[in-house]
Amino acid sequence: MRPLVAEIDLDALRHNYQLACRCAPHSRSVAVIKADAYGHGALECARALESLAPAFAVACIEEALTLREGGITQPIVLLEGIFTANELALVDAHGFWVAVHSQWQVDALLAARPDQPIPVWLKVDSGMHRLGFAPHEAENIWRQLKAAPSVAALHLMSHFASADALDNRCFNQQMEQIQALASALDAPLCLANSPATLAWPVAHGDWNRPGVMLYGSDPLEVANEVTQQLQPVMTLRSKIIALRELEEGEPVGYGGRWRAQRRSRIAVVACGYGDGYDRHAVDGTPVLVNGQRCPIAGKVSMDMLTVDVTDVPDAAIGSDVVLWGRAQNGEVLRVDEVARYCDTISYTLLTGVLPRAPRRYHECSV
Ligand SMILES: *Cc1c(COP(=O)(O)O)cnc(C)c1O
Repeated sequence: MRPLVAEIDLDALRHNYQLACRCAPHSRSVAVIKADAYGHGALECARALESLAPAFAVACIEEALTLREGGITQPIVLLEGIFTANELALVDAHGFWVAVHSQWQVDALLAARPDQPIPVWLKVDSGMHRLGFAPHEAENIWRQLKAAPSVAALHLMSHFASADALDNRCFNQQMEQIQALASALDAPLCLANSPATLAWPVAHGDWNRPGVMLYGSDPLEVANEVTQQLQPVMTLRSKIIALRELEEGEPVGYGGRWRAQRRSRIAVVACGYGDGYDRHAVDGTPVLVNGQRCPIAGKVSMDMLTVDVTDVPDAAIGSDVVLWGRAQNGEVLRVDEVARYCDTISYTLLTGVLPRAPRRYHECSV
C-alpha cells in the first residue's frame, strides 16, 4: 500500500486546547472545528475534546449535523448562522447556537416560534468589513433581539482582521468600536480568534473562539514563549520510494526547475499535489528524511515529490519522510514554516490535505 498517511495526535490537540484555556482563564473557549477540523477530522477531534470543551463552532449547519449524527451533545455554534430561514427548525431541534450577521436572519429569528429560545451571537462589523452589522445598526437590533421570546443568551460577537500582526493599530481600532458598543449595551462578548486568544488579553470575552492554534499552528507574526508550547497535531508522513544519483548539471522533474550543483542523491517521495501537498513549494522547502531536514528539489508532481538527500547518507528506499509534523526522532517541522515556502498559510495546507491521504488517529491518554 502507498505509505502516505496523515497521522493525527489527539493528545496534542487536547494539549493545545488546554493551552488556549490557560491563556484566557476567565473565558470559556469554543473549539473551532469547521472545515472538518481544519482537515483533521471534525468528529474525531470533537470526540477527543468532548470532556474539555463546553461548546464547538463550525461554519454551517451541515457541519453541525455531522457532529450531532456522530453523537456530539455539546452546543454547536454556526459561525455564519443560517443560510436559509427554514434551517431554524433544525437549529431548534438540535440545540444549535447561531451567529446573526444580516437583517434577513434577524427577521427570521423574530418570526420564529421555536420550542426553546435560540442562543444568538449578534455579529458586529468592527472594522474587518466582511460580515456583520455596523455598530450604529447593531444597537437597535440588539434591543429587538433582547426583547424577542425566540432568542436566548444574546452575545455580541466580532472578528479581528489582523490580531496576528505585531502592529496593533487595526486591532486597537476594532477594540475601541467593540468596547464602546458593549458598554452601551452591557453585552457579553465573544471576540478572540487564536491570535487574540494568545496575544491580546483585552479581547478575551465570555467566550473565545480559538481555531488554528488547536492544531498546533502558531498564528502570530512573531512566535513567543506561549506559542512555542503548541504541539503539532497532524504529521503528514510518507516514505522514499526510489533513489538516484545525478551528475552535476542534471535536472530533476517537470521543466527541469532544479539542477544539480554537485553530484547529488535525489529521493522520490510518495506525496504530491494530488494529496494536497502544495504545488507552489519552492526548491529548498524543507522535509524531514529520517528526522533530518532536506530540501525539496524540483517541482512537486501529482503523486510524488523529489528531495535532495545528498547530505543524508542513511536515506534509503523506505526511509521515513515527514512533510510536516513530528519525525520519529522527535524533530519537528512546523506546518507554518512549510507554508512560508509555499507562499501561503498553515490553514490552506491543513485544510488542503485530500482524502487520498488517510487519517490515522493516535492517542495515549483518554
Ligand atoms: C475560523 C474562525 C475562527 C477561528 O479562527 P483561527 O484564526 O483559526 O483561530 C474564529 N471566529 C470565526 C468567526 C471564524 O470564522
